[in-house]
Amino acid sequence: MSAEETIHVGGRWRAALAGETREIVDPADATILAVVAEGAEADADDAITAARRAFDEGPWPRTPVAERAALLRRTAALLRRDREELGLLESRDAGKTVEEGRVDVDCVADAFDYFAGLAAGQSAGRVVDAGTDSVHSVVVYEPVGVCALITPWNYPLLQASWKVAPALVAGNTFVLKPSEITPMTTVALVRLLTEAGLPEGVANLVTGPGHSVGARFAGHPGVDLVSFTGGLVSGTKVARSAADTVKKVALELGGKNPNVVFADACATEEGFDTAVDQALNAAFIHSGQVCSAGSRLIVEESVRERFVAELARRAGRIRLGRGTEDGVECGPLVSPQQLEKTEYYVDAAIAEGAVVRSGGRRPEPSATRPANGYFYEPTVLDRCERTMRVVREEVFGPVLTVETFTTEDEAVALANDTEYGLAGGVWTSDAGRARRVAGRLRHGTVWINDFHPYLPQAEWGGFGKSGVGRELGPSGLAEYREAKHVYQNLDPKPVRWFAG
Ligand code: NAD
Repeated sequence: MSAEETIHVGGRWRAALAGETREIVDPADATILAVVAEGAEADADDAITAARRAFDEGPWPRTPVAERAALLRRTAALLRRDREELGLLESRDAGKTVEEGRVDVDCVADAFDYFAGLAAGQSAGRVVDAGTDSVHSVVVYEPVGVCALITPWNYPLLQASWKVAPALVAGNTFVLKPSEITPMTTVALVRLLTEAGLPEGVANLVTGPGHSVGARFAGHPGVDLVSFTGGLVSGTKVARSAADTVKKVALELGGKNPNVVFADACATEEGFDTAVDQALNAAFIHSGQVCSAGSRLIVEESVRERFVAELARRAGRIRLGRGTEDGVECGPLVSPQQLEKTEYYVDAAIAEGAVVRSGGRRPEPSATRPANGYFYEPTVLDRCERTMRVVREEVFGPVLTVETFTTEDEAVALANDTEYGLAGGVWTSDAGRARRVAGRLRHGTVWINDFHPYLPQAEWGGFGKSGVGRELGPSGLAEYREAKHVYQNLDPKPVRWFAG
């Protein structure tokens, strides 16, 4: 198998039908990491045909759920076996640190185990009381069919696993398209599924761009469901394409996530230190390229100066560099486009009156930071207003904006003043306030005195323009199932509606 054979259709690895390839770039120094197949519409069609056949004629949808769950568990074990290799690959491809890459692999293996346990533990159907002994009525859950799974570049393996694991355990077949700029670990995942014993044609992978492969997946009549994770603009296009063929649609889109800090959370030195530390983590982990990044700090006016000064001091000390180097805490942005977008938003914010408290520029090159890498300093922008573009739009870079409030109502209003609604945090030592504010936040995940953790057993997804549907948790499995009501009359008689 040559390096360019990254398209997997009907159990075979191959190059793109048109022979096109794409260079995958290391964001730390702009060198070429790998060359992969650049698929197009014809490759997408081929993959959908294979997935359709495997669904309509193959064994997988009819395989007992216990066996499907066992395959997921074997995959989880293989992921753990290859943890170092996969963690390193994710780091080099997406620019994150190797430790972040390893954590991602752990989370991916956990997701496979979780969905295996969830599906295996559920009953096959639900008997319904029809109100008479002469009717037996049951609701059963069946796979949806061929699922198109489209994923972004920031958590390539993790986002794929939240779709692949539930789709498979529910008995679906799929066509999968990773981001064209970070496909490497998704290729590895499909290899592991094959090693775990998945039948041919169940998992099909096409590496290639969104406008051709992704758009074809979303609009193709042979696809029954499309699950998309990515930006608002592409997600809207996917929803539009899917509407013409009335597919089921799940969308996990962006966020502009508030992190609300009340002064009472900072009343002790320990509380202050924790809130600052977590605000830093919320905004700058993976250089802010996280859908749930706490990119809007909303801090009570009375502690603003002390809080922001300490936050800016610590942001200035974050060790930026190549993610594979020891001691590096933050890697580069994923692409030159992402770097330019970040610079654009920071410059616009300064022009609109924001004050740079740290960062606001590309760093000097160093031994761990090659000059060609897409690095940007963690940036704290003080004195931001809710009307500024940097406050309203998703930057997806290491940029934290600061807004202030004086009352609880004002804090809630600021936190909810976004078209998105993915996640938000609230820091307070007042238990009543914590519950009150959490209850009023219009976001799919609310953290109280924490930021970022998620649990595979709890739903993940967004209010508003952050998306449609949920991943993880029981709802994350339900997305991949159709409910069917089977009504059996045990004593059939004529109904005589018509005199005939
Ligand atoms: P993107 O929208 O540019 O691309 C995402 C995927 O969609 C890629 O595979 C891309 O090739 C494909 N695509 C692009 N145009 C398409 C089209 N017209 N039809 C079908 N597919 C198309 O997003 P990105 O830049 O890769 O990722 C960053 C975005 O993802 C951010 O907005 C981030 O918030 C979001 N995200 C959300 C979550 C979540 O859980 N809600 C998780 C991770 C990332």
